[in-house]
Amino acid sequence: MTNRSTVLITGASTGIGATYADRFARRGHDLVLVARDKARLQALAARLRADTGAGVDILPADLTQPGDLAAVEARLREDARIDTLINNAGAALSGPFTEQPTEAVARLVALNTTAPVRLASAIAPRLVQAGTGAIVNIGSVVGLAPEFGMSVYGATKAFVLFLSQGLSLELTPKGVYVQAVLPAGTRTEIWERAGIDASAMPELMEVGALVDAALVGFDRREGVTIPPLHDAAHWHALDAARQALVGDLRQAQVAQRYRAAA
Ligand code: NAP
Repeated sequence: MTNRSTVLITGASTGIGATYADRFARRGHDLVLVARDKARLQALAARLRADTGAGVDILPADLTQPGDLAAVEARLREDARIDTLINNAGAALSGPFTEQPTEAVARLVALNTTAPVRLASAIAPRLVQAGTGAIVNIGSVVGLAPEFGMSVYGATKAFVLFLSQGLSLELTPKGVYVQAVLPAGTRTEIWERAGIDASAMPELMEVGALVDAALVGFDRREGVTIPPLHDAAHWHALDAARQALVGDLRQAQVAQRYRAAA
């Protein structure tokens, strides 16, 4: 590793995370790659070192295991070269809620919510002290729409969006950029891993196009980047409606429609 700015990427062994690794290495950053599959991390690290000259460390970890997660948190706390965290590791769960084993639901929540918030918590104080840096959280458009029928996965991604928006409000004034990236269906292994036949999907975005678009948003310091959303006015309208709703809350008074009929 050199003294160059270093990016720690979770879920870097394949898919969106491996593509972020490729793009950040080509941009002149060093990397710390996190995932469970050590052999895949080693192969990617060797390729990126040879192709780009980047310094690449691997940190094999199962982010659902408290001990492994603590090791990644410690690296984020202690390694002052790391100025960017890409919270990307995640999984999906297919099938109706009543058929999803409780343990699988709990593992999904641990991976998609507990891990990214703990990792953000580990790095944020150091970034704030430095007055610079970035935290990127990979959400999903599924987190906007219970209608997609993936209740637990969508709930974890709604958590990621809310967390990102809240942290952005808190950390941007202190020099730390926070971005939520909301992909829609993207061609990676996530489908196969969740037991979903991707060939039955009508259309998928290619992973390189998704990450390159997310990086356009990153370079613009956009708070929420939704590469598959074609008319940004829809997002702005949703945000305006939310703020109007919040402006209409009157804490001390029950709304007329809930008052008992006189
Ligand atoms: P993917 O190809 O399945 O890659 C997932 C990555 O996460 C892999 O590197 C995997 O590596 C790692 N991972 C999985 N479980 C882990 C664990 N317990 N501990 C540590 N690492 C773990 O999926 P992807 O599509 O690139 O997904 C990346 C992110 O994008 C996820 O947060 C996902 O929810 C989000 N997303 C994807 C899509 C899509 O359509 N692809 C759409 C919206 C959002 P190992 O197996 O080596 O651990």
